[in-house]
Amino acid sequence: MHAFLNRRRLLALVMASAAILAAGVATSASAGNSRHWTHRPGPGGASITSQSWGTAPDGQAVNLYTLTNARGMTVTITNYGGIVQSIDVPDRKGQVANVALGFSNLAGYVTDDTTTTASGETYFGGIIGRYANRIANGSFKLNGVTYTLPQNNGTNTLHGGPDSWNMQVWTATPISGRQSVSLQLTYTDPAGKNGFPGTVAAKVDYTLTQDDALRIDYTATTSAPTVINLTNHTYFNLAGEGSGDVFGQDLMINADNYTPVNANLIPTGVIAPVAGTPLDFRTPKPIGQDINSGFGQLVLAHGFDHNWVLNRSGPGLSLAARAYDPVSGRVLTTWTTEPGVQFYSGNFLVGDLIGTSGGTYRQSDGFTLETQHYPDSPNEPSFPSTVLNPGTPFNSTTIYQFSTANQFPTANQFPTGP
Ligand code: BGC
Repeated sequence: MHAFLNRRRLLALVMASAAILAAGVATSASAGNSRHWTHRPGPGGASITSQSWGTAPDGQAVNLYTLTNARGMTVTITNYGGIVQSIDVPDRKGQVANVALGFSNLAGYVTDDTTTTASGETYFGGIIGRYANRIANGSFKLNGVTYTLPQNNGTNTLHGGPDSWNMQVWTATPISGRQSVSLQLTYTDPAGKNGFPGTVAAKVDYTLTQDDALRIDYTATTSAPTVINLTNHTYFNLAGEGSGDVFGQDLMINADNYTPVNANLIPTGVIAPVAGTPLDFRTPKPIGQDINSGFGQLVLAHGFDHNWVLNRSGPGLSLAARAYDPVSGRVLTTWTTEPGVQFYSGNFLVGDLIGTSGGTYRQSDGFTLETQHYPDSPNEPSFPSTVLNPGTPFNSTTIYQFSTANQFPTANQFPTGP
């Protein structure tokens, strides 16, 4: 038996089947919110199963989907907010851990979204839209018209405003291939919701590949000119969620420049070199090494919470960042078609949230690598445009690839060629 089989999969092998989602490939048995799985790999070894996961505040039924590849990597995703709830990957000895911060049940996410906690809304694992990151003063101008948005982060609009994409129940379609499995999620964001013009039809495909990558393909169309910036808000801890801070995990960001921010964490419009600052991650270094250096930008944000301007030689998928945990040997490599990445070191987690395995999340117990356009682009004409017009679909892809190593990997080639 593969060293990589975790308890859930072992249990699964003896459970009765309840619903066949991917013909001949996988079956699942659900018992309320308990996690009982039947996993019967098909010829390619990949499967996708589903269980009922409760009811959203709007009364809609919510499911939790488990994507498993032939090597036993599993990712669970709920159609509430398209949230990545867990990512189980092995360390260099084959020991599996969940490297994504989150909650053990739907109520945890709903509470995070709808109540005021000391940590603020974490957006753990969610799909962020219609505009990821901040829009200054809850306002932008497009084609001569000023649009006013609800302010939910001081005077900013953050992550699309309240009641945003990470809180909607998405329509889910499991898709099973021979070598990979996907969960297709769709949601239509009505014109005027949170003040944005145009009805946006969004589709997000999560694919778990045979080489341990979680690939996210975003597409969107609009009925009228609008702005769009989509990302995923998974917090990673390569030693396992709930295992403490990520200060000892090494990070490389493929960026010579970043966008400095003002006290509201809104970019000043300047593209500044990282050279000579603690934001220089071109050579891998521990996340904690310079975080308390007193550098003005880090003081403003209580740590790292900035947009890096990615180095790229042209359009298409390109290397954004790589993280490595020297203790477990787990590696996370991020590829994206986006021009920027928001590296956020979990600064606002203050120990009031109980995570998936029952531990408390404190400051810097996880980090995000939110691939996206730059914050506040609708108000900053010098930044790459986030305008979406009818007839021209929005397309974006990000890949989070997991592997193990004995030292920080230097190969910057995409393993299978994107
Ligand atoms: C932002 C942080 C914010 C966090 C949770 C991140 O994308 O950059 O400032 O605190 O999301 O809302």
